[in-house]
Amino acid sequence: MYINGEWLDSEDGTTFETINPANGEVITKIPNGNEKDAKKAIDAAVIAFEQWSKTTAYQKSDVLYRIYHAMCRNKEHLARTMTEEQGKPLRAALNEVQYAADFMLWYAEEVKRVYGRTIPAPRSDQRFLLNYHPVGVVAAVTPWNYPISMITRKVAPAIAAGCTIVVKPAEATPLCAIETFKVFEQADLPAGIVNLVTAANPAPIGKLFVEDPRVRKLTFTGSTEVGKLLAQGAANQMKRTSFELGGHAPFIVCRDADPVVAAKGALLVKFLNTGQACISPNRFFVHKTHINAFLEEFAGRVSKMKAGSGFDESVKIGPLVNEKAVEKVERQVRDALQKGARLVTGGQRLTENGLDKGSFFAPTVLANVTPDMLIYREETFGPVAPVIEYEDEDQLLEMANDTVYGLAAYVYTQAYSTAMTLFEGLRFGIIGINDINPTAVAAPFGGMKESGVGREGGPEGILEYLEVKVGGFSLR
Ligand code: NAD
Repeated sequence: MYINGEWLDSEDGTTFETINPANGEVITKIPNGNEKDAKKAIDAAVIAFEQWSKTTAYQKSDVLYRIYHAMCRNKEHLARTMTEEQGKPLRAALNEVQYAADFMLWYAEEVKRVYGRTIPAPRSDQRFLLNYHPVGVVAAVTPWNYPISMITRKVAPAIAAGCTIVVKPAEATPLCAIETFKVFEQADLPAGIVNLVTAANPAPIGKLFVEDPRVRKLTFTGSTEVGKLLAQGAANQMKRTSFELGGHAPFIVCRDADPVVAAKGALLVKFLNTGQACISPNRFFVHKTHINAFLEEFAGRVSKMKAGSGFDESVKIGPLVNEKAVEKVERQVRDALQKGARLVTGGQRLTENGLDKGSFFAPTVLANVTPDMLIYREETFGPVAPVIEYEDEDQLLEMANDTVYGLAAYVYTQAYSTAMTLFEGLRFGIIGINDINPTAVAAPFGGMKESGVGREGGPEGILEYLEVKVGGFSLR
């Protein structure tokens, strides 16, 4: 663990194992932190805040640039660590590390543009001034699916704002976090501005984060279930919070779309990270006129995708994170088939050619999916594409919006008016129109409804770590 600029074992000396999900082998042992370690990290962040919050924008920018360059220098190493521990193909891991580093670059620049403003006053002898101030010590809880970029998406704007931070990464990918912090260290950071606490059991640390009054901001990426729990705890002290939670994205193939183009897009976005992405499509609404062409093109391509170790260049589908994830996918597929879905391709766990040692599930397409099936409402977080045929265009928006989630949505259409109508009518925070990657460090990322609160990335991302202060000055 990295606390106050030093690498430490856990206070009680215990460790836990991190596992390669492609073959079940132990990679290494990780310090198993508890609330005492987390408290030590908060102590360090509190002390470091005194100085760090007073540095100039240019000094903060300099540190962020140094981290950016260190991450670029270590890109290959970080990506290999990610492929080993999280399972995604190496090319995807390299892309993620670049995306992660880009948050440092973007906020190195944005920090110099955190302007306050003057506000016209109602009295002639009065002046109003608005300034931004760092919120204080930040506690961050991050997930395993994007184990490096989800750390930098929080750390970069937090330290750019002048906050100090304690990160608790997911127990499935602690090594990615450790290697990332080793790279941060190469940037010669002041001690205590970034701290890392690894743990097998997150609950006591989450409890400390919400109960310690010195933590003024909690930022969380993970499941809606845990997000709600932390939101309730944080409410007691009215902490600032941001939550990036689950999703259930609709992918709409309109009557005026090209079904072959849409099927190619669907393939790329659905199976990214083996379906383990919060913006992964979870309901494919395909207009009746295109259903056959879409399914043929889509399933033809899906059935050719190779599963295996992310170090094999021909592999497109990595393992799921663990056994529990495979069981969830199996349960949803079984339920859908029992209720009348048609299996177009895939549908089972993969065990041949040594895949039985890891947690692999075949890329799967289900047709004739209906609202009574679990998969229609539950986030899958796996390589299954449920396809729903629709005919009535007047009901499309209602069907697509019929979910408690509101993170991402995708639309394929060739008509400007359809694109604009759906863009305006969909209740989701991120919408791809003929675009399967509507994300970038400069574009605020986040959801509506139970997909969360707040935005990460872009100018909105740094405001999450800043307090607004208004001064009224009387000239009398
Ligand atoms: P999870 O909620 O189980 O875990 C996320 C993090 O929360 C981990 O670090 C875990 O250790 C921690 N955690 C778990 N219980 C906790 C507790 N009681 N107190 C404090 N921390 C606790 O989710 P997951 O399975 O790791 O991640 C998958 C979920 O994350 C999916 O629902 C996905 O949609 C969501 N996600 C959202 C985004 C986004 O930006 N909206 C990005 C990635 C993942």
